Amino acid sequence: MPTIKRTWTCTECGKEFGVGEWTCADGTSNHKVELKTYRSLDVPTAEGTTPPGILPPVIRSRTMVCNVPPPHKIMDGGDAKMVGEGSVEFINGVFLTTDPEQQYWLDKKPGYQATKEQYDSVWLSAEARNANKEIELKAREERLENDRNDLLGQTQAKVKRETARP
Ligand SMILES: [Zn+2]
Repeated sequence: MPTIKRTWTCTECGKEFGVGEWTCADGTSNHKVELKTYRSLDVPTAEGTTPPGILPPVIRSRTMVCNVPPPHKIMDGGDAKMVGEGSVEFINGVFLTTDPEQQYWLDKKPGYQATKEQYDSVWLSAEARNANKEIELKAREERLENDRNDLLGQTQAKVKRETARP
């Protein structure tokens, strides 16, 4: 089980706050914290195959996750008020949020904490994984090539300076 955070520092107002103290300085919206990505390994099973040459749909699944946050009481002026449960929507098994209240409740739910590697291994086809690998390799090669050119440039400049001496 991942550890559940109990205190945060708001990136908007700078205040440190705990569980339940979600409201930011404006009194209505929630505090903001560092963006966190939640990933689910729940891949749609009845996808069917896409004919060759046709790209698969960009949005393959939308999943509502309920009880984020669960129904709860808030104090409005002097009155206690019930707020209904909230929900968040995972698109293609991914949900990103800076809302600490959503993070707090999602952190309590197993099944939405997959790592990027775990996610890729179930969501991407073998072809897509290979294509990604190829892009990574190419980027690495380009970096090496750039480094080599830098070195070459430096050496040439040095040689030029040395030969230019009387
Ligand atoms: Zn705040």
